[in-house]
Amino acid sequence: MSWWVVLTAVLMALAIAWVGMIALRAASGPGPREVEDVEELDVFLVCRECGTEFRVTRLGELQIPRHCGEPMEVVRRPAAGDLTPG
Ligand SMILES: [Zn+2]
Repeated sequence: MSWWVVLTAVLMALAIAWVGMIALRAASGPGPREVEDVEELDVFLVCRECGTEFRVTRLGELQIPRHCGEPMEVVRRPAAGDLTPG
């Protein structure tokens, strides 16, 4: 086996892998989905102890923060259009 045969084989393998990756990326939709966008869902982190609420707009790695020594509760509510106090 000559060196150029090995070189051609390696190049072809690389080309096939490259085309395969592009095909996979095209099949799985545009862009990688690593972070869940929850801005339309109104996700809140609620502290059961004192009632403090944090609005969550993006969920990355789910790490629930603690408040008052207790892990906060993840609450999903339907997107409220008008919130009139009273
Ligand atoms: Zn609290």
